[in-house]
This record gives sequence, structure tokens and C-alpha cells, in this order.
Amino acid sequence: ATITEIKAKGKLLVGTEPTFPPFEYVDENNNIVGFDIDIAQRIADKLGVKLEIVNLPFDSLIPALMQNKIDLIIAGMTITEKRAKVVDFSVPYFNANQSIVVREGEKFRPVKLEDLKGRKVAVQLGTTGDIVVSEISEIKVVRFQKFTDAFLELQNKRVDAVVLDEAVARAYVKKFPKFVVSAVIDTGEKYGIAVKKGNSELLNFVNNVISEMFKSPYDLLVEKWFEK
Ligand code: GLN
Repeated sequence: ATITEIKAKGKLLVGTEPTFPPFEYVDENNNIVGFDIDIAQRIADKLGVKLEIVNLPFDSLIPALMQNKIDLIIAGMTITEKRAKVVDFSVPYFNANQSIVVREGEKFRPVKLEDLKGRKVAVQLGTTGDIVVSEISEIKVVRFQKFTDAFLELQNKRVDAVVLDEAVARAYVKKFPKFVVSAVIDTGEKYGIAVKKGNSELLNFVNNVISEMFKSPYDLLVEKWFEK
């Protein structure tokens, strides 16, 4: 939608998949909250409209954007060449790597992806974690729509590891000490906010909001003490 259309409907529709703490997750009051949600709220506030979060499986987010069912994707989504062919990405707003999570207190402690050969590994369908483990044919990949289900499978010993973004792995391990981060795989990913391909008006708006959030204390001081 154009900015005029978003203002006319009075709400910004942001698609996300909320089993990805601390970026987006369901809190104890059943609200979807997190780092990404605060960015989404900031964009909605600047547009002067309400924020509506649309909860979708991760692999449905890009199709939903292409079919105009949502205005933006904010979902810890890595900017990849393949995705950038079908959607437009904002400037990067977070750096990420993959990691391997296993059960605490067991001998199996993989330090690299190759150590997962011959093992069952849970991932979220359509993520970069799915892509990196699927490249190694000897790994038996089990795909889930929700990370909560992937970790349930790890807990119940039906898989040997979960592969996912490091910051999110750390959030799960902190909450559930029965899991441990066994390795970090340097993939050099960067998260971006996705808009419909060709919607440069909304993309520029989003980029401005992100740049503003990156402002240094010096810029903020100048803004505070000098008139524009
Ligand atoms: N950053 C990963 C990706 O883009 C995972 C994102 C997610 O699961 N929300 O594929």
C-alpha cells in the first residue's frame, strides 16, 4: 500500500512470526512483543496510524507481502539475494549468525555444521538456518513452523540439535537452561524490513525511521540544543 492508502485505512499491517525472542514473541499476557515490534510501533507512530500485527508462519510472510495482505515484514528476516528478487529490503538494522543448540548435560557437543552429519536437526521452515543445514545432504533435517515446536522436539530427544539465529538461541537457552548453545556459525547475516517490490515511498519512510534510531548521542545533542 502507498503511505496515503495506509493513512486512509488508519493502520499499518506488519507481518511477523512470533516464536523468535527477543525480536518477536508472545508474552505472559498473550501480547506479541519484542525488539522488532517496538520498531514496527515506531514506524506506525511516525505514520500516525495504529499498528496491527499479523501472525503468520515464517515461510508465508513473503507471499503475504506480495499479495498485499500486509504492508511490511518485520521478522528478524535476513536480507538474502534470493528474497531481494521478490521483495525490497530496508537498510540493515541488526547483525546475525547461526548457532547450534543441543541438550545440556550430554556428550554430543557439535562445534561446526559438519558435526551434525548423520544427526536429526530441527529448523524453522524457510529460514536461513534451514538453508545452511539443508546444504549438507548427510543431515536429516526436520522442519517446523514454530521454534517452540522445534525446541519441544529437542527436549523430547526426537532431534539432536536445533539450528537458528544466535541471539534467539541465547534467549531460548536463558529461559530453558536444559539447552545449551554448542556452536556459533559465522554467517554474517543482516536483518532488514521488507516492503513490497517497487514501493519506494514506504521503503524510504522505513529507512528514515531506522536511520533516526541509529543516530549518535552527538546528533541527538545537536537536535536537542539547536533549532532545525
Ligand atoms: N534470520 C532468519 C531468516 O531470515 C530467521 C528468521 C526467523 O525465523 N524469524 O531466515
